[in-house]
Amino acid sequence: MQYEIDLRSDTVTKPSAEMRVAMANAEVGDDVVGFDPTVESLQDYVADLLGKEAALYMPSGSMTNQIAIRLHCDRGDEFLCEADCHVYNYEQAAFAQLSGIAVRPVQGKHGILQPEQLHGKIRPGGDHLVRTTLVTLENTHNRGGGSIQPLEYVDAICSWAQENKLKRHLDGARLFNAVAATGIDAKRWAQGFDSVSVCFSKGLGAPVGSALAGSKQFIALARRARKLFGGGMRQVGIIAAGALYAIQNNCERLIDDHENASLLAEAVRNSPVLLLDNEPQTNIVIATVRPEFGTSADLLNLLTSKSIGALAIGPQQVRFVTHLDVNRGQIERACEVIDSCARHTSCV
Ligand SMILES: *Cc1c(COP(=O)(O)O)cnc(C)c1O
Repeated sequence: MQYEIDLRSDTVTKPSAEMRVAMANAEVGDDVVGFDPTVESLQDYVADLLGKEAALYMPSGSMTNQIAIRLHCDRGDEFLCEADCHVYNYEQAAFAQLSGIAVRPVQGKHGILQPEQLHGKIRPGGDHLVRTTLVTLENTHNRGGGSIQPLEYVDAICSWAQENKLKRHLDGARLFNAVAATGIDAKRWAQGFDSVSVCFSKGLGAPVGSALAGSKQFIALARRARKLFGGGMRQVGIIAAGALYAIQNNCERLIDDHENASLLAEAVRNSPVLLLDNEPQTNIVIATVRPEFGTSADLLNLLTSKSIGALAIGPQQVRFVTHLDVNRGQIERACEVIDSCARHTSCV
């Protein structure tokens, strides 16, 4: 299905003409047999941006997250995470399937955990119990509606974890949205973590890829694990060039997506048919369809008939994500369509 205004996800963006030129002209090598110069440039750039010793390019954010978890935990270990996070909900429990690791999810609010909620969640020693070895956080939080983890919570959780000898992993698939929205740089957000995963194919607009950053020793192990997971890629500079272009050119403009999300949120708030789940802090708007008017499927049908794409994330819940392939004018049109829902007695 092709939509004129595609708000299903920020992954739907297509490489721009300039990005395609960078990709077409990329210098390449064999990144499995040896190295690829464009990948090296990307990895160095990302490591520096995140204040870590090294970084490694991979095909997806699921792979960077799952390799990080695998390396931080032994078989039979358990990690702590927020209950609505991507690692736990949207990666097929790969930590269990591929690495023999267990999870203890803790329910936050819009993806945000109060630091105290983790206290007491570390298993005491003993032959009956799994060992707790890792805590993961997600920033911004996807299912939480693009919510930003408050920096003081991140600091409190990371220091608590360190005091208790837990490793820390950050799923920063949309970390640059948090950077754009707060003005706090990526290095500062990444500071308390042993490893950080970032995505180039979300709001940054590259076609493929993620990076995992951490210490040199950790990234050397990650490179071995990447081969094990089938993620070694050869003349991969072609796609890494798109990722490098994206991170060098598309970070600051994320602010535009946030403003567009605010505009959409206003339309949702003013609609008698919809309920705004939370005030968007970045580029994700989650709306609940009031049951007396219909379901999320009904709303999607109406939107689809106007060539607007959105995603049903529950029987009553719909998600809209703004990104660089949807401009202000198109957002205004989407708002008009949302307004028009009210004129139908049942949305819909
Ligand atoms: C998209 C996403 C990922 C990674 O997804 P892939 O499709 O595997 O690249 C990880 N975490 C979050 C929060 C995401 O939104």
